[in-house]
Amino acid sequence: MTFSIHGLAVARGIAIGRAVLAVSSRMEVVHYFIEPGQVEAEILRARRGRDAVAEELQRLQADMPHDAPPELAALLDVHLMLLQDEMLVNGVKHWITDRLYNAEWALTTQLEIISRQFDEMEDEYLRERKADLEQVVERILRHMRGVASPVAPPPSAPRRQAEAGAEAEFLLGGAADAPLVLVAHDLSPADMLQFKQSVFAGFVTDVGGKTSHTAIVARSMDIPAVVGARSASQLVRQDDWVIIDGDAGVVIVDPTPIILAEYGFRQRQITLEHERLMRLRHTPAVTLDAQAIELLANIEQPGDAGAALRAGAAGVGLFRSEFLFMGRSGRLPDEEEQYRAYREAVEGMQGLPVTIRTVDVGADKPLDKGYKDSSLNPALGLRAIRWSLADPAMFRTQLRAVLRAAAHGPVRLLFPMLAHVSEIRQTLAQVDLARAELDARGAAYGAVQLGAMIEVPAAALMVRQFLRYFDFLSIGTNDLIQYALAIDRADEAVAHLYDPLHPAVLRLVADVIAEGARQGKSVSVCGEMAGDVAMTRLLLGLGLRSFSMQPAQILAVKQEVLRADARKLGEWAQQLLDADDPAASLQAP
Ligand code: PEP
Ligand code: MG
Repeated sequence: MTFSIHGLAVARGIAIGRAVLAVSSRMEVVHYFIEPGQVEAEILRARRGRDAVAEELQRLQADMPHDAPPELAALLDVHLMLLQDEMLVNGVKHWITDRLYNAEWALTTQLEIISRQFDEMEDEYLRERKADLEQVVERILRHMRGVASPVAPPPSAPRRQAEAGAEAEFLLGGAADAPLVLVAHDLSPADMLQFKQSVFAGFVTDVGGKTSHTAIVARSMDIPAVVGARSASQLVRQDDWVIIDGDAGVVIVDPTPIILAEYGFRQRQITLEHERLMRLRHTPAVTLDAQAIELLANIEQPGDAGAALRAGAAGVGLFRSEFLFMGRSGRLPDEEEQYRAYREAVEGMQGLPVTIRTVDVGADKPLDKGYKDSSLNPALGLRAIRWSLADPAMFRTQLRAVLRAAAHGPVRLLFPMLAHVSEIRQTLAQVDLARAELDARGAAYGAVQLGAMIEVPAAALMVRQFLRYFDFLSIGTNDLIQYALAIDRADEAVAHLYDPLHPAVLRLVADVIAEGARQGKSVSVCGEMAGDVAMTRLLLGLGLRSFSMQPAQILAVKQEVLRADARKLGEWAQQLLDADDPAASLQAP
């Protein structure tokens, strides 16, 4: 039966495909398709994992001390029984043979299906066996992790569907190429990076806000996504047909043929629009009144430089370097590794400037997946520059790597979340020290411009002092809104109050832009506001001449720029600043 789930629209477009449910985040599972010729080997790999667990459990039973509690022996019996469970064994075989899933994916998919059946059981004892099954599967996965897969994850291996004849498959032109969409309770930014290399055509999460980092990475991948869809991961079942409408923030489950046809049509329209925008790639971004506008890219990894260039970016306005630090179980990248990454981005941009922001971990960007920050208010805690200044040796490792990369092309160094002049002084002292360390080593490095993120209201209010110390500023509206309005940017429960057009936010943004212009220093916006076409004219009217955004948004924003008359927009924007409800007047003039 068709039903829809409402969430927040975070990454535009339409995805239609089969649902893949990401099970327990405790199990880090890589999803990929195998080749048809690898089916037997993959089944064997799953069987070996199972056999190894059976041996381990039998050994445990044999070595059990005489005074061990009897429940323990019973529990091992249950686990051994579950290992041989026909539903588990046959299900895994099915997903590998008919769908060409890798063994780990097949195991977790089947676990999900059996778990649901356990959930529906009346008998409490049987219902509780679900936890045992999870433990058994986790043991198998752990064993398989130690056993190298005979197959490498192919980037675009063939996909196959087991069942034919469903209406959806008919409408989509057959089962063979059905795309997959990921449905999860939550995805960490590090998970998202992993998905960058994967096969999913879109995703849905139960939690998250519009400018949560998970949403930002989705936009950078340019795949449709809906977050904050509350219980989507409970309501959608493995393999359901799902439409993700990333424009409206709606997920339609088990759609009828008519709905599918409608969305298929919209998908084709979006492709056409995309192709039309691509023609603007080489057109200079200039307003009707001849104001040149700088359109820059936000990137997360050095390899994203390609997407930035393809979108016609004039440079990188924000390289979120923290993504190099995530998912490494505490083993942070050393100077050499960071230098190579920054150099790759600099060379990838072929002479265009690259703005590298020093590491901004903390709050909704934990270093490691599953890590729970125990501080009461992580967003107000040891985050970003505070984290860097708390460990100066680690900070200087990053600074030296950036300075060395600057020998290969123009680099701007950007510092996140500064709020105090004392922090500015400490930061600049660390830069001097990093240079001195490189001099002492005789290492080559380049000149860099220094810039501050304006993303804490205190920084926006004392922008004049900030400009004494820096060559440029970049307004991080994602955090500026969060901190000005006291709204957690990642919390869907208060997402309706997260308002970029709140008069207080607009006043802060306007004042920073104006002060930069007065002092002849560059100010850009690198928060999500810069890539939102509904905001382009307003930001132009407030005097903004530099925008940094996900590469996928650059051409749409350029289209707005080409149609705008910045002079006329100036007056209108000033009126908007004084309005009680600026959102109501956004459409004019
Ligand atoms: C911002 O806060 O607007 C910003 C660009 O930084 P991040 O989203 O990485 O916190
Ligand atoms: Mg920020």
